Amino acid sequence: MACKADLMVTNAGQLLTLARPAPRRGLAMSDLGIVPHGAVAIAGGRILAAGPENAVRSRYEADDELDAGGRVVMPGFVDPHTHLIYAGDRIDEFELRLRGATYMEIMAAGGGIRSTVRATRAASDDEILSQTRRRLRRMLAHGTTTAEVKTGYGLDPENELRLLRLIRTLDDSQPVRLVPTFLGAHAVPPEFDGRAEAYADLVEGMLPQVRGLAEYCDVFCDEGAFTLAQTERILRRARELGLGLRVHADEFASLGATRLAVELGAASADHLVVTTEDDRALLAASGVGAVLLPGTAFGLGKKSYADGRSWVDAGAIVALATDCNPGTAPSESMPFIIALACRALGLTPAEAIVAATLNAAYCLNRAHEVGSLVAGKSADLLILDAGDYRELAYRFGTNPVGTVMVAGRICETD
Ligand SMILES: [Zn+2]
Repeated sequence: MACKADLMVTNAGQLLTLARPAPRRGLAMSDLGIVPHGAVAIAGGRILAAGPENAVRSRYEADDELDAGGRVVMPGFVDPHTHLIYAGDRIDEFELRLRGATYMEIMAAGGGIRSTVRATRAASDDEILSQTRRRLRRMLAHGTTTAEVKTGYGLDPENELRLLRLIRTLDDSQPVRLVPTFLGAHAVPPEFDGRAEAYADLVEGMLPQVRGLAEYCDVFCDEGAFTLAQTERILRRARELGLGLRVHADEFASLGATRLAVELGAASADHLVVTTEDDRALLAASGVGAVLLPGTAFGLGKKSYADGRSWVDAGAIVALATDCNPGTAPSESMPFIIALACRALGLTPAEAIVAATLNAAYCLNRAHEVGSLVAGKSADLLILDAGDYRELAYRFGTNPVGTVMVAGRICETD
């Protein structure tokens, strides 16, 4: 006698289960757990079973069936690094850059992170919410079902806490699951010019109020941002308060943030473009995720990509993210990031998919809940407009995601 399911997704030409558990390293990143002629039985928003259609049908029957038409069925994407919540854009700055302006010239003209801080502080809650909702709709349409969102365009207690509250409002009012991160240490705001230490004090002082609103604390550790010592004291205080840790490490200069992430047991170190060999080996041997963000180098028109191949071969827990932000990476598309990672970082399509789903979920402490299609996890899945999973990497510039499901419900993505 078959058990009852609410819904069965049938006729998956390739069902990517990613059944082997997280975190995945090295060769294990090539294993997508592909089931031909697969099906997924769902009840109460959760997966009851995912496997060969014959086997699933012998155990479950469902009132509703969704025919995948022989196409690819896979877990929803998890985007573990975004700066999604802000107001305004940086289109003028983009054009200035194309015309040859340097970063310093743009800064001097009032551009860069500070221009987004000005626009965000001046915007009403409703303006920030409606602009961010548009980005979330694009994310969902491109298959992202869980995303980390950082603050960092408020840079004072009032506005940083406001952004955290707005992230919560957004989490409650649309399908993409959001993981909030406090990035008060994104840049030194103009009112603290020449007083970075005093601003780092202020960020430390915000942490007790941040607890309860944010799950993680992040610091941008780099030249022109925060020093290693400032990063360390902010992250140590955050850890004392029970926040998880992440760090922007080795994007432009190698200041030792990767080593610090390992020392402090951070969830992830992100960017990792100019990491030294020693630091790479250290991170790869740890449980700290290595989040790579190729959209940033692409967005800047640079060739300075992280060496993804070496990170995978070294055995690191490699994840991919959009870094969606108005300055360097205005894209919500994980399929584009996968296509880029296969060309610019040297990953294979299978490795890039694991990095964009299961390993990304691990980096957000959500691998028990999302990132693969196994019994007990949330039914967050995609039906691609493709019969072969490699099309995700092969095609670019168009959206290969057909249907998006979150917790067993089909989302409207038009
Ligand atoms: Zn970032």
